[in-house]
Amino acid sequence: MKILILNAGSSSIKYQLMDLEDVHHFTLPAFGLVEKIGESMGRITHKTCVNGLNSTIVEESPIPTHTEGMARVVALLTDADKGVIREASEIQGVGHRVLSCGEVYTDPVLIDDQVKAAIREFFPLGPLHNPPNLMGIEVAQRFFPNAPQVAVFDTAFHQTMPPKAFLYAVPYAWYTDYRLRRYGFHGTSHKFITAATAEYLGKPVEQTSLISIHLGNGCSITAVRNGKSVDTSMGVTPLEGLVMGTRSGDLDPAAIEYIMEQTGMNIHDTTNALNKQSGLKGICEVNDMRDVVEAAAGGDQMAEIALQMFTYRIQKYIGAYMAVLPKLDAIVFTAGIGQNSFPVRARICDGLEHLGIRLDIQKNMASADNTREIQQDGAPIQLLVIPTNEELQIALETKQIIDG
Ligand code: ADP
Repeated sequence: MKILILNAGSSSIKYQLMDLEDVHHFTLPAFGLVEKIGESMGRITHKTCVNGLNSTIVEESPIPTHTEGMARVVALLTDADKGVIREASEIQGVGHRVLSCGEVYTDPVLIDDQVKAAIREFFPLGPLHNPPNLMGIEVAQRFFPNAPQVAVFDTAFHQTMPPKAFLYAVPYAWYTDYRLRRYGFHGTSHKFITAATAEYLGKPVEQTSLISIHLGNGCSITAVRNGKSVDTSMGVTPLEGLVMGTRSGDLDPAAIEYIMEQTGMNIHDTTNALNKQSGLKGICEVNDMRDVVEAAAGGDQMAEIALQMFTYRIQKYIGAYMAVLPKLDAIVFTAGIGQNSFPVRARICDGLEHLGIRLDIQKNMASADNTREIQQDGAPIQLLVIPTNEELQIALETKQIIDG
């Protein structure tokens, strides 16, 4: 089944055209990124892989709107010469990554007017993502009128959290009246990792318990009990929890008023600084983990401190989640940093031997793109590195809905 996966941002559209049967049988004939929509100069990077031959097309021209961006994508996909399909109608389904639907949907859903209304209702809680996500849906409905469109929500996997985990200890009416609660994010990735862990361990998902550590530009950690998310580090927005590339993660809320008084910044700029100027970048001025590790290795003290803060916060969450999970099959590292940075994994595991976390230094350093174990032989807790694939998860869920 040919499925187009879309992730529409405020000035970008990420897309993948997947041809898939199941999690092990799929190809990726084309994927790409439309960026700088609405700016004076836009760009499309379109990559194809046909019969093992890779090619890349880069186009630069103004792209005033998402509709124009999508028109270009369709033109590239169906190009008589270099296209991977003959016409848009060959696409049998469109899967949309959508940030949040609050508590309305716990699973992916076929998009209709009611679903669109629910996405719109959550604009205030996902102001940067939900509006462009909805725009992406409306644009795709125009270009692929006969293909079922499915919304896959980044919050959905965490809807199994119990109230003791998702409520903030604030006036309860803030929850009932304004829906203030922890929603959690990266749900599509944590769900993919949960299924992949169960498969790797040869257990049913419903009997698999793990701590899933997603370390990319955004970072989150999830406690999964018997296949279900029971706690996660991100909150009402993706700002809470771990130290991230540019986000602070956990912070005393009273710090906000204090720093506003001291600097004269308004609430918008302060929140913006917590999202974009904090985390690794706030401490050592760079947010790409490769640069941080390199600088720390070169003797940069602030990079070293940033790295310590990043890994110490993760250690604290591992401890917390081990305390609340009655059993634990595996701790899993994923996403850009989790999959690739052996020094970061080593620092996270360092000193946690008393918890049964025993890293094998050699296995940890071996680079590979596939699922692998990195714990010492005979260690009580499996330590796994599993590449996440959120687009594949979206495609699988879209296919599942279409197949009924
Ligand atoms: P996103 O959250 O945008 O999907 P990714 O999962 O691609 O992000 O992760 C991006 C992060 O992964 C960046 O901080 C980058 O430095 C880090 N990263 C990628 N490759 C490596 C590597 N080989 N070593 C260390 N960090 C890496």
